[in-house]
Amino acid sequence: MTGYPTRIDFASARDIVRGVAGNRMLKAERVPVTRASGRILAEDITSPIALPPFDNSRMDGFAFAHASLSKEGSTTLRLMGQQFAGRLQDLEVGAGECVRITTGAPLPRGTDTVAIKEDCVEDKGAVHVPAGIAPGADVRRVGEDVQAGVRVLEEGQWLTPARVSLAAALGIASMAVTQRPTVAVFTTGDELVEPGLPLAPGQIYNSNRDLLMGLLRAEGLEPTAWPTLPDDPERMKVVLADAAAAFDVVITCGGVSAGEKDHVPGLLAANGRIHFWKVRMKPGMPVLFGELDRALFICLPGNPVSVLATFLTLGRDLLDCLQRRREPRPRWKAVLGAPWRKTHDRLEFLRGWLDGTPDGRLLVMPNAADASHQLRAAADSNALIVLSEGARDYRAGDVVDVIGC
Ligand code: AMP
Ligand code: MG
Repeated sequence: MTGYPTRIDFASARDIVRGVAGNRMLKAERVPVTRASGRILAEDITSPIALPPFDNSRMDGFAFAHASLSKEGSTTLRLMGQQFAGRLQDLEVGAGECVRITTGAPLPRGTDTVAIKEDCVEDKGAVHVPAGIAPGADVRRVGEDVQAGVRVLEEGQWLTPARVSLAAALGIASMAVTQRPTVAVFTTGDELVEPGLPLAPGQIYNSNRDLLMGLLRAEGLEPTAWPTLPDDPERMKVVLADAAAAFDVVITCGGVSAGEKDHVPGLLAANGRIHFWKVRMKPGMPVLFGELDRALFICLPGNPVSVLATFLTLGRDLLDCLQRRREPRPRWKAVLGAPWRKTHDRLEFLRGWLDGTPDGRLLVMPNAADASHQLRAAADSNALIVLSEGARDYRAGDVVDVIGC
């Protein structure tokens, strides 16, 4: 098996994933705005209206013309009507007059300023307004949030609830978003047993399926999991070919290393294509990226922490690229809370706990249980600490990159 890059550095692996996925980007579809959260926007959105759409009151109180206020001291104004949020009344407020108004209500003609209800005294059709109110106080001006005709959202943006809400505020009922990739999940290994069944000697419970399903669902995807595949190349070939014909992405875990029972690389080399196999990273060195039929394959090693690290880095990049996500995932700089000695030259994604310090820094404490089978350390972590290729000795206080996990 040759003719593909192997033992490459992490940045090259990521570039290959992005390059291949970039040629396979998914089509756009239109979804109602109520279903758009978490999707990737596939069009620019220009504001069809201004926000606020009209001048309105910021508070419950009384609206009047600022010119009606006396230059010194408080003013007594005649209460001539009321304007609540909703329908615009046909009011014309004259000099020396005011109207009762509620938050969000349009300012009646002749008014430009609001006094807060709690600051005023109402008495038999008159309102005493205190001194010192600035012109335009407590008025929200048309367009001060968004002007009409400007680009407010861009193709490739991840639709957070706030972005979807902005579109809704502009009256947009549907948006073009990139289709979701369909994803098939395979766990492999003769030793695997489903939770709930008894363990025979030599067997372990399948933990990677729930890890992967959870990671994928956290991305808003609806992955499909297969029953565990035994380490049987014939069976694997048939089942994987089936999935490859129907899904955009196939994620396998296990069976991708150099052992006698590791059949995945041979299957892909013989029936599809390998884009790379083995990346100089820890954990997850044996990770493979390839394709078969219509599906892109990302084949993760079996150890659970390798699954976590390779999915969050290469796997998620693949899914992001397919969906044309332009905004990079957040990555922070943090101060290392304890020294760490790397025993190898590879890029490492070490588990750790990220927290803010009282003086406003981010501090990350590495978890000493750094082996790729030590799932407990991953469960006790909220971050992956990125330790550079080549670097060896880290001191407490060194600044490192971290990724949330
Ligand atoms: P492999 O990559 O198949 O050689 O597996 C590497 C290690 O990960 C072995 O100790 C496997 O037992 C373990 N492993 C593989 N698949 C799973 C899984 N789905 N859940 C838990 N551990 C696994
Ligand atoms: Mg295996």
